[in-house]
Formats: sequence, structure tokens, C-alpha cells
Amino acid sequence: MRSLDRLISNLKRLPGIGPKQAERISLHLLRRPPEETRELVASLEEARRNIRFCRECHYLSEEPLCDICRDGAREPHTICVVEQPGDLVAVEKSRSYRGLYHVLHGTLSPLEGVAPKDIRAESLLERLKRSDGRIREVVLAMDPDMEGEATALYLAQQLRSYPVKVTKIARGIPLGADLDYLDEGTLTSAFEGRREF
Ligand SMILES: [Zn+2]
Repeated sequence: MRSLDRLISNLKRLPGIGPKQAERISLHLLRRPPEETRELVASLEEARRNIRFCRECHYLSEEPLCDICRDGAREPHTICVVEQPGDLVAVEKSRSYRGLYHVLHGTLSPLEGVAPKDIRAESLLERLKRSDGRIREVVLAMDPDMEGEATALYLAQQLRSYPVKVTKIARGIPLGADLDYLDEGTLTSAFEGRREF
């Protein structure tokens, strides 16, 4: 069945969805009333239309500034740098951090040809320039893999000429782990044990 195959192959591209799950979801959707499919498609389109990147930290937002950047109750002197929006969500869930963020949307990878200009690194430095000394600490919270290490090293070097303390979350994190798959306790101790770079 051509349309079923097409649906399954589109679902298979989603993270965490294998061929089996794609098939199960497809058959489930086809069993449900048509309004449910319409609502699903409409919510997807609405999210695509309305959600952009925060102009300050590059997290997802429906406004020019995201909820976190607009939240006056956040600790305004610290920026935590993460690779992806999902990492920010994981850190927020762990409740181990109350400062601001910067989302890079990638990591440096010489092997795959990802250079500093391909991630949102420059805008972090511009943010620090604009902040006029308000930012006192930058916490590097990259995944503990080769790309994450290379990215942290690059940022630490770039940040050397700024009057900020640069720290890195602690090594309690298993090597090769994804930040957004870690349990809250591990993330909390990683933040508490952060060290100067
Ligand atoms: Zn923001």
C-alpha cells in the first residue's frame, strides 16, 4: 500500500522511532477518528509556524525572547552553554541550575566539517560584549564525547579574553553519554561539582 508505506517511512525518520514503532503508530492513527489526525497535523503546522529561536540564547520561543530570557527571577550572572534545545530541557528538569542559557545548535567536528561559524558560538561572545560585565560565569555543559570536548576547548580559548569565570560541568557523566538522557540526580551532581576550566 503506497500511502501506508509513505506514512511509515516518514515516521521512521523521527528520533527513537524504528520500523516496528513506525508501523504501530501508522496503524494506530488509521484506526482513530479523522479529527485526531487533523488536530495532530494542525498542531505540528502551528508549532512550525510560531516557534522560532530566541534572539538572545537561541532556545525555542514564540516571542523574540524566550521564556527563560524574559524571566526576571533567573540568576542573571551565569550562562550555561548547551549543544541542543533538548539539553536545556534536561538541565531545567534537573532543577540544578537557575541561570541563563546559550544553545549552540551543534558541536564542532573537524571530521564532519563543522566549524565554529556553523554553530552559534560567535553570538555567545557578542552576548558577553553586550552584557558589559553582567555575566560573571560561563558554564560549559557539552556532552562528554569527542565533539563535545573539542567544542568546550574551543569556547574556553575564545572566552579567555573576557572577564568571566569559565567552568565545566563535572565528570560524573559517563563518557559518550547524551546530556538529555541523563537522570536528574546525575545532572545535579555534575552542576554542583563544576570546575574552573
Ligand atoms: Zn532565550
